[in-house]
Amino acid sequence: MTVGVSRGRPERVSTRLVGLALLATLTLGGCGQSDTPDADEPVVIATTTMLGSVVTDIASCAGASSETLMAPGDDPHSFSLSSEHVADLVNTQLVVSSGLGLEEGMTSVLASAQQDGAHVLEVAPLLNPLPFGDGDSTGQLPATHDPHFWLDVARMADAAAIIGHELATITGDSTYATCGTQVRDDLLVLDTSVRDILAGVEPSNRVLVTDHNAFGYFAAAYGFEIAGVVIAGGSTEAEPSSRELAALIETIQTRQIPAIFSNIAAQSNAVEAVAREAGPQVQVVPLYVGSLGPAGSGAETYASMMTTNAELIAQALEPK
Ligand SMILES: [Zn+2]
Repeated sequence: MTVGVSRGRPERVSTRLVGLALLATLTLGGCGQSDTPDADEPVVIATTTMLGSVVTDIASCAGASSETLMAPGDDPHSFSLSSEHVADLVNTQLVVSSGLGLEEGMTSVLASAQQDGAHVLEVAPLLNPLPFGDGDSTGQLPATHDPHFWLDVARMADAAAIIGHELATITGDSTYATCGTQVRDDLLVLDTSVRDILAGVEPSNRVLVTDHNAFGYFAAAYGFEIAGVVIAGGSTEAEPSSRELAALIETIQTRQIPAIFSNIAAQSNAVEAVAREAGPQVQVVPLYVGSLGPAGSGAETYASMMTTNAELIAQALEPK
């Protein structure tokens, strides 16, 4: 069910939108369901809460309804969906997933839905995906490329335009493409604002230690170095080894790294343990990594999630 992987393409994704959307449609069989849409069914269903936020913006701009499978706080690596949901996925116009192995617990349901004619758009393979960094060959994910694209806002902006084009192609309603472009433009403004927030972090302090290997896109986009991860590999589902943890603790101490960034959607005792071992000056700072926050968290939308993350990172890494 993999759609055209655009590995190592140097050019910007947005210049290839039409081709990619077309390619995705052809590869997925382009099973047209545009004949008699049911007014009660959502036009588009997203898997993760981040995609759900963006997809909801596009759909509501076009006067349509959308649905998100995961809820705030769900970890996309472990979230599972029962086969009862296959019919919902088949009945909607478009299912939007991250792909590249992110939704590990949904693989069989998504595959069954596609067999039954669901139109699934995996966006991560279309966004010039990055390979996992060094030392992650032990990762649990089936893909060799990193699925955590949403932590780079510019890539999410490209995703919005791709989703809008795809919806326009499937439904024949060009409003979706216009709305996708509008949401992309809003996200490019957000990207600038995230850069402004992070601009205060000195180059020498732009060092991240995180719970799992989710920040490759963030680091590449905003100029950070990943000094280490607590749970090796690209999934929250792996177990850290004591040898790896000892090496990480030494790195944190030697380089005087002030913070470890944990994952609100997948709390790990190992993160707390590493911070304790590394010393009292090492703070654990929870971020919204795999999910939006619940109502009242200040991270209820993709935009507020990324703004909150940037503020927390900037605060944690500024000299005390
Ligand atoms: Zn992850």
